[in-house]
Amino acid sequence: MAVPVTTAPRTIDSPVTSLARVKPLDARRLAKLGIESVRDLLLTLPFDWELYGAPKRVAELRDGESATVVGTVAGSAAQITTRKRVRLTKATLRDDAGDLLRLVWFNQPYLARNLPPGMRLAVAGRVKGVNEGFEMLNPHHESLASVDGSAGPRRIGGLMPKYHLVAGLSSKRMAEFVEEAMPMAEQLEDVLPAETRLRMGLLGVVEAVRLGHKPRTEADWQLARKRMAFAELFELQAAFALIRRQLALEPATPIPYRQDVIDAFKAGVGFELTRAQRRATWDAFQDMQRTAPMNRLLNGDVGSGKTAVAAACVAMAHAAGLQSVVMAPTEILARQHLGKFRGYLEASFPGLTVELLVSSQGAVERRRVRTAAASGHCALVVGTHALIEEEVEFAQLGLAVVDEQHRFGTRQREQLRGKGSGRPHFLAMTATPIPRTLALALYGEMSVSVLDELPPGRTPVTTRVVAKHDRASAYELVRQQVRLGRQAFVICPLIEESELLEVRSATAELERLRKDVFPDLKLDLVHGRMRDKDAVMQRFVNREIDVLVATAVVEVGVDVPNATVMMVEGAERFGLAQLHQFRGRVGRGADKSYCLLLTDDETPYVMERLDLVQRTPDGFTLANEDMHRRGVGELMGARQHGMSDAAMDALLKPELLSLARDEAEALLQSDPDLSRHPALARAVVRRLEVTSIS
Ligand code: ADP
Ligand code: MG
Repeated sequence: MAVPVTTAPRTIDSPVTSLARVKPLDARRLAKLGIESVRDLLLTLPFDWELYGAPKRVAELRDGESATVVGTVAGSAAQITTRKRVRLTKATLRDDAGDLLRLVWFNQPYLARNLPPGMRLAVAGRVKGVNEGFEMLNPHHESLASVDGSAGPRRIGGLMPKYHLVAGLSSKRMAEFVEEAMPMAEQLEDVLPAETRLRMGLLGVVEAVRLGHKPRTEADWQLARKRMAFAELFELQAAFALIRRQLALEPATPIPYRQDVIDAFKAGVGFELTRAQRRATWDAFQDMQRTAPMNRLLNGDVGSGKTAVAAACVAMAHAAGLQSVVMAPTEILARQHLGKFRGYLEASFPGLTVELLVSSQGAVERRRVRTAAASGHCALVVGTHALIEEEVEFAQLGLAVVDEQHRFGTRQREQLRGKGSGRPHFLAMTATPIPRTLALALYGEMSVSVLDELPPGRTPVTTRVVAKHDRASAYELVRQQVRLGRQAFVICPLIEESELLEVRSATAELERLRKDVFPDLKLDLVHGRMRDKDAVMQRFVNREIDVLVATAVVEVGVDVPNATVMMVEGAERFGLAQLHQFRGRVGRGADKSYCLLLTDDETPYVMERLDLVQRTPDGFTLANEDMHRRGVGELMGARQHGMSDAAMDALLKPELLSLARDEAEALLQSDPDLSRHPALARAVVRRLEVTSIS
């Protein structure tokens, strides 16, 4: 039977396989980079360029420079080196003046076959002077059709693009795909309104895409990149503005502010709120008085006292006759929250009952809690995922709080908010200090309160960078602290390629420490692949373990006041902000605590970064540094939020972001449903599909 063939006309939204050069395997590789349609391909500019300049003669070359040379292949051969058995391809290129350039490629044995003598070839790479002559290692290459050399190289020389890649793709292949797709760039609609573009002096999208993939000069490239980055931030901000508007239309029950409630709360909480806590509490109270639901992110360093802020909101909701729910990522955290909320609230608010809901409870207990929630009898339920997995219903839900919000998906947060009849006010908490620009860019649909101050009386954690030869002193400190009755964490190096490898190396590390270093201490292991992480953590809390070895993926977000040493192996592999997170796991009690950053890499770059952690106790300062040093993409997994490098780099200049935000706001004022800006409307919809906007 004949299969009906539908040949839909190829458009910019056709899959990349509609390009002749993109084979199904290539398409799968491109998909890993988030490139599915021709449009995606065109909009994904190179992240950087190599500058080789116009072709030069061999006689003009200088040692160490990057250059392009055009000539004729004089000979080529594949070889295997005798000692290290590396496969090499060697070739000789003769330029039109007759001078020779040696070419060497590693691990591309097939190449020799593709470089027959007499072929016209352009190469671009770094020049190395070797006895009398010159050599290029792993140069880019392109065969030239015309034998007389009149046609210059089309794809190499000048500026060579660098695209983000996955195994099996090269920047050259990418450039070939883009070249085939380029005629369709005409079809790209501009998401930027003409007025905005003119006012800001930005290129149109078609020109930006052309120049971005094939600039003639560095300036072209910068212009293209600036335009693409701005358009992206603008799209995102338009998406956020749209969500904010939609949220504002959903009715929430206002929670009136009552001075007597806050007075009672302050009296019962047992400490003086910090200035930052008061500010954040006030922000939240203002939001909750409105008929539109609060949508606020509480961003505070570890130990800054976010729970107390949430508790004040719970008290206010309770006074208005509304219930609250708090969701935490692990059972231990939920239990710790239960203790804190009860401690903060139950004495001052006798009618305010707090219940726990986690999956390890018996069926009878869980049913009792569900009934208490559904009847409106309990004011606050604290729990884990069980809250959304089980059919918990609330009689009058007024406030939903999510702790460590990045540990939950958009859908889970949404499910929690759907637990009542109307739309509850929403407070998300995170202990990852996020620089303000990044918060605006990633969570622009939320308002943000920052707790940038720790409660008084904390002893700062002593941070020390420990070099290879000093390892014994680190172990000695652990031993000494355990002797004093304290406990220690050992974090194993991050292995990004595979969690399984990471687990293996952590297991090996545990065995090594048990056998060679601490045979007399109680050691155990916790990792991300373990089913019962909570049970191990609980035994650590109960002091049944002296030294807890953990993989990097495990977030040990638990209060263990008795732990006083945090030892991080392979510290150079972590971001500054991550190191700070680890450090936050100690120093939670009254005792002096230590954070030891171990590294075998003593290069100045590494030492300088680690030294910065050692000198900087503040998480926001470090996060900012991290953002500037490693680039925004590494922080907060911004790349997973579907942002391009250009847009992320643009975040380093906050002015551009606020401009994008202002322009987007103004546009939505005049065109609230974007009906007069269809291209932008479509882009916003696409963006909402790929980003984790909550
Ligand atoms: P986090 O922001 O990490 O969730 P917590 O809310 O768990 O921080 O607070 C950390 C510790 O500090 C808790 O033991 C809490 O009771 C205490 N705490 C919070 N606020 C204050 C304050 N203003 N003064 C003194 N201690 C406080
Ligand atoms: Mg907390």
